[in-house]
Amino acid sequence: MAIGIHRPTKITLDTEALVHNINVAKAPFPADINVFAVVKANAYGHGVREITQMAKQAGVAGFAVAILDEALEVRELGYEKEPILVLGITSVEYIVDAAINGISLTVGDLDWLKAAQPILDSEEIPPLKVHLAVDTGMGRIGAQTPAELSEMVKFLRNHAHEFNFEGMFTHFATADSPAEDYFDAQVANWNAAINVVNPLPKYVHAANSAATIWHPQAIKTNVLRLGAGMYGFNPSGTDLAAPMLQPVLSLTTEVVFVKQLAKGKSVSYGATYQATENEWVATLPIGYADGFLRRMQGYHVLVEGQPAEIIGRVTMDQMMIRLPKKYPVGTEVTIVGQSGEQQLSLVELATYANTIPYEIVTNLSTRIKREVK
Ligand SMILES: *Cc1c(COP(=O)(O)O)cnc(C)c1O
Repeated sequence: MAIGIHRPTKITLDTEALVHNINVAKAPFPADINVFAVVKANAYGHGVREITQMAKQAGVAGFAVAILDEALEVRELGYEKEPILVLGITSVEYIVDAAINGISLTVGDLDWLKAAQPILDSEEIPPLKVHLAVDTGMGRIGAQTPAELSEMVKFLRNHAHEFNFEGMFTHFATADSPAEDYFDAQVANWNAAINVVNPLPKYVHAANSAATIWHPQAIKTNVLRLGAGMYGFNPSGTDLAAPMLQPVLSLTTEVVFVKQLAKGKSVSYGATYQATENEWVATLPIGYADGFLRRMQGYHVLVEGQPAEIIGRVTMDQMMIRLPKKYPVGTEVTIVGQSGEQQLSLVELATYANTIPYEIVTNLSTRIKREVK
């Protein structure tokens, strides 16, 4: 049985918005540009089953995930031929699973290749697809110099039976920032890396959402690795504008309990909220176990286009709001999305929580049901 189907709290996913976002991201690039939908962390909390299907409809070439388990999950969802790239480092312990399932792994150094090579040296195991990571300034994984990269490429060419050198890529640290010097230095390092590899592998890629949206002319890439931009939230938060993006996710619930709270009475743990007059208060079936953070007390949701404050502490599974007037049980409440003339965005929610939208969505738990529209 699917979890959450007996509760009105739900995520609604907008296929048209996702298709639109992919198309606007691709627009500045040549028509044959590849898109890898980044679906790590349960598709940024949106739901990997639903998002892979929607992204496929939008014509993406492949998928990117963070860990091998996520890659195998995507294969199991029925994507048998599509490239699936694991962006993090996978222990050589697990590479046979990757090779057999045609999963592409990221490689950060020569030692890894040397450790993997004897394991893969077998007639039964197909060549492992690998993408070499180039650290042009992210400081996370990958070759730090063209010389290091060349060594890895040489090793791959000498062991073509064990490895399929399918790609190389880098990742930008500041593509979402108005200051461009650091970005420009990374671009220069990336161009230097490309120069030492001849011939180039099939996939040569450098574009996360921010680079795609704000620097399409500057980067040499034949794959767009789209996360945030595909989901339609601004990768920079509020630093740079991205008006072309349409949010894919809405988060709604319904009032499950209503009461009048007499002046002076309190709400929730710690009794941190006290009614200053007689107030209508509704209880909503969502809490921090769903990924709606405890620190959201004082934020607001929308009821028929009207703001309603979250009062008292958010509890694990429920929270309370102050209604502008009495509403019946079953009234829809919007936490992210459109309600009447009003809209609440992920960026607003994240800003209130003092974090970034990425952290908000990846916390949305599997307990919330997902619906595709
Ligand atoms: C997560 C990730 C992405 C996607 O980033 P967005 O900002 O969501 O587009 C792209 N590349 C790498 C290496 C990543 O880890």
